[in-house]
Amino acid sequence: MDKLLKDLLMAPGISGYEEEVAQLIKTELEKSCDSVKIDNFGNVISKKGNGKKKIMIATHMDEIGLAVKYVNEQGFIYFIKVGGISDGVLPGQRVIIKSQKGDVYGIIGTKPPHLQTQEEKNKIVTHDNMFIDIGCANRDEVLAKIDIGDQIIFEPNAGILNGDIYYGKAVDNRAGCYAMIKIMEKIVVNAEVYGVATAQEEVGLKGAKTSSFAVNPDFALIIDTTTAGDVPGIEAKVSSLKIGSGISITLIEASGRGTIVSNKIRKMMLETARENNIKHQIDVIDGGMTDGANIYMNREGILTAILSVPTRYLHASSSVFDIKDLQAAIELSIKAIEKFLKL
Ligand SMILES: [Zn+2]
Repeated sequence: MDKLLKDLLMAPGISGYEEEVAQLIKTELEKSCDSVKIDNFGNVISKKGNGKKKIMIATHMDEIGLAVKYVNEQGFIYFIKVGGISDGVLPGQRVIIKSQKGDVYGIIGTKPPHLQTQEEKNKIVTHDNMFIDIGCANRDEVLAKIDIGDQIIFEPNAGILNGDIYYGKAVDNRAGCYAMIKIMEKIVVNAEVYGVATAQEEVGLKGAKTSSFAVNPDFALIIDTTTAGDVPGIEAKVSSLKIGSGISITLIEASGRGTIVSNKIRKMMLETARENNIKHQIDVIDGGMTDGANIYMNREGILTAILSVPTRYLHASSSVFDIKDLQAAIELSIKAIEKFLKL
């Protein structure tokens, strides 16, 4: 597995706490870009090349996670969710509390089946009734190690399941960050190209708003992940996207509440994929949106395209994707930017 991809998947950075992953991305972008900075909001903004037009590649770097809310007298830690997480994926998870004093390992406690009533067995416990056990005997012992407000991430993991099928923490959207870094490395065009790792996407597409206002691009290309439907329990009419079937070109998000890609860009993206024989699928979704939704209505309206890597088990502790789809995202992005500059 590529070291950079692995490092990105493993790095901590829930919304608002992106410093560590931002530094990793900044260091990597410095190798290929003319300038790289981290702005007041926490976005990483890199720039490469010169020309009349401005192109922005936006990939959010924050991941979903938890934050410490309260510690009870027995030393158990209560938490809030940051971003969309199903309560059902939490029980029994191994987590790391990123404290000022270092990493603190914990386990989200569960009630053994031996002790559950029949009613409890059929019911999902809600996150506000869950707690994290870090092996301390009381509140004082816990507060000597961590603080209220510390971020909590799922225990980092990343690797190859089989062949081209990869797994990891925070695939949403470190996969996109990896693509953005690779595009900035490879792209050579007559334009100012901005590679941006946005902050706080999972909690309201926030960094996209501030960074696209600053860059004010002629064309924005968003790379994110989307839900693959190729697993038991998801009907094809709900999601027909399959991992390994190509990068998905998103056209409408959240039934139109998110981005509605303009006809001009829709045509350009589909033509680019066909002309270059890049394996792709089309994504029209009822729920979920990307940074694109804020970027395309920023300022006077910004032409926006969205590419999404089909991913299984989004917003869980490990997600699964096909590396070939990610490579297709890199290739299609470069070709689409080249085509846009000729329009
Ligand atoms: Zn995402």
